[in-house]
Amino acid sequence: MIQRAAVISTGDELTTGRIVDTNANYLADQLTQIGIELAAVLTVGDVPERLEWAWRSAAAISDVVISTGGLGPTADDLTTATIARLAGRKLVLSQQVVDHIRAFFSGRGRPMPENNLKQALFPEGAEIVPNPVGTAPGFRLPLTHNGRAVQLIVLPGVPREMKPMMQASVLPWLKANRAGRAVYLTHTFQTFGITESALDEAVGEVISADEARISFRASFPEISVRLTVQADPESARAQLEALAVRVRVRLGEYIYGEGETSMEAVVGKLLTRRELTLAIAESCTGGLIGHRVTNIAGSSRYLKADFVVYSNEAKMRTLGVAQSTLDRHGAVSEACVKEMAAGARKLAGADLALATSGIAGPDGGTPDKPVGTVWIALVARDLNIARRYQMGGDRQWIKLLASQAGLDWIRRYALGLELGKSLPFRR
Ligand code: ATP
Repeated sequence: MIQRAAVISTGDELTTGRIVDTNANYLADQLTQIGIELAAVLTVGDVPERLEWAWRSAAAISDVVISTGGLGPTADDLTTATIARLAGRKLVLSQQVVDHIRAFFSGRGRPMPENNLKQALFPEGAEIVPNPVGTAPGFRLPLTHNGRAVQLIVLPGVPREMKPMMQASVLPWLKANRAGRAVYLTHTFQTFGITESALDEAVGEVISADEARISFRASFPEISVRLTVQADPESARAQLEALAVRVRVRLGEYIYGEGETSMEAVVGKLLTRRELTLAIAESCTGGLIGHRVTNIAGSSRYLKADFVVYSNEAKMRTLGVAQSTLDRHGAVSEACVKEMAAGARKLAGADLALATSGIAGPDGGTPDKPVGTVWIALVARDLNIARRYQMGGDRQWIKLLASQAGLDWIRRYALGLELGKSLPFRR
């Protein structure tokens, strides 16, 4: 029965700092969600003695060891051979996997390099974990280590291959072999406009620590809150939903989405549902809002145009901002951003227009308008408002926050909520 896991990440790229270990991060999250404790994450380069050390150390403290990386066809891919040696097993060729690899290459009209056959060698007794996306399958090998049963699960390093293998094969197997009967269910809320500490306090008011585990993840500029319930299979779903209702009521409009989603996806759904079209006029965000909006498939249904008007001249020529407005108030002003929005709306023939103008820095600030001053405006048939924000952080941070705040305005407008609730983000 599996209670505790250890993760091994292998590859010189990790130990030389060329890539970030996102695999361990993903595995930690997945294991925690199904109630398996992660005892350690070990990272080692492509050196046989260090790999051996990692495997021995991991097996000593866990019931299941999951490794990623080192399964490729090249000489520095040593994982399979190391495990076979440690386990005292021969390497045997799987004809089924040979056929899979051949089919993979012929499907792409390429001959199979002979060294790819290395990926069809497995320690005797291993069960193959199919790889639907690439050539290297993984495997699972049950072992006895120091008189204890330990399962070794070996997966490729490429995240795009590893994740579907986890989902399709490894997680169902882990769930079926996990100690205890309780299931773990999670629900995630995506929020914007409220600080992590305020969120912590608000959620703490409606959910106590013995009802669910509450975890926060701040991935600027959004913060997600995840509830994890551990309960009998029959009652877990209902328990989780009852808690989710309390959070929904407590956080209200600060929740922009539930589950895996993004602000731009939510905005897209709302605009589509309300049959509203959008125009954007961007100065300090430099096209970022348009970029985010067009990351969503189907955005052509609602996005009419994105005008990136960086210079004063472009603001006047393209969107009809008055020379006198710029002379009197400057480009980073209420009057300018409103005229930008009105101009964009008219030119594009859109229902709604959002505009941004600000000082992203690091230069260009003045005592009146320091770096981080951002004006946002939203204009519609029944609306013409703008608001000034003072944002903290570096250039990228300010651009990103301004884009998020702007998108949140659209979300709020489409839902009939108050626009531009205070922004908590500073750096
Ligand atoms: P391949 O068949 O491509 O050789 P592999 O299983 O041998 O696959 P590695 O060679 O170790 O895997 O890594 C392949 C690529 O996968 C790396 O270049 C890197 O981009 C990515 N990768 C490997 N390990 C990790 C990790 N722990 N976190 C994130 N990405 C990783």
